[in-house]
Amino acid sequence: MRKQFAVIGLGRFGSSVCKELYKLGHDVLAIDNNEEKVNNMTQFSTHSVIANGTDENALHSLGIRNFDFVIVAIGDNIQSSILCTLILKEMGVKNVWVKAQNYYHHRVLEKIGADRIVHPEQDMGIRIAQHLVSEKIIDYIELSDEYSIVELIASEKVAGKSLAQLDIRAKYGCTILAIKRNKDINISPFPQDLIDKNDILIVIGHKNDLKRFEEEGL
Ligand code: ATP
Ligand code: ATP
Ligand code: CA
Repeated sequence: MRKQFAVIGLGRFGSSVCKELYKLGHDVLAIDNNEEKVNNMTQFSTHSVIANGTDENALHSLGIRNFDFVIVAIGDNIQSSILCTLILKEMGVKNVWVKAQNYYHHRVLEKIGADRIVHPEQDMGIRIAQHLVSEKIIDYIELSDEYSIVELIASEKVAGKSLAQLDIRAKYGCTILAIKRNKDINISPFPQDLIDKNDILIVIGHKNDLKRFEEEGL
């Protein structure tokens, strides 16, 4: 389903969000108060406009209230980020996601009703550290403090064996949600499905179990 997004602030983070949403086929309104930033985004957005994210009238005339999601990616100017978020929530925007600069900024955003607060630098740091320590982990989604979904590369050790033979759920408490092989993806595999070397396994489980599976099972 095509959704309507607006991104306010087109720094490295905001412009990446904008481009990716647009690439995924959604409507994206790109906003920045810097003309050059706006011009750089014209071919990667549905509309791009020069506007100040703290100008209530400007946001109103852009019809910002009707967007499904507004992403506030104003970086270093914490005051503007807070004011912009406040205006958006007061206008009744349903989903406001905001990039936080630090813990204090995060707490204020929480208080004024930001629906989701993100820390891309920290999150990316964690992700990259995960990649650094294990060449088997390709990607990583934290579901809670205890549970995650990881993408793992199948090694020689499991090649040619079925999920039932490896008895993964019973032995490691992890469940394989999908198996990716080149361009193909096998969603909810059967116990008798075979794993090939270099298949990408998408696995859900408790962090300790996933670690055990990665270290001992693969
Ligand atoms: P990066 O994602 O590159 O690390 P940042 O988040 O640190 O960037 P900043 O340069 O601080 O980036 O701000 C992001 C963008 O927000 C900039 O392009 C800036 O022009 C824009 N911006 C700052 N204040 C406003 C505002 N009041 N209204 C609209 N855009 C703004
Ligand atoms: P269970 O009650 O654990 O599902 P079962 O006796 O019904 O086991 P099967 O469903 O045939 O047996 O699967 C045999 C074993 O294969 C399971 O116990 C589990 O360890 C493993 N297995 C099957 N599917 C998966 C999966 N998607 N992810 C991880 N392990 C699996
Ligand atoms: Ca920055």
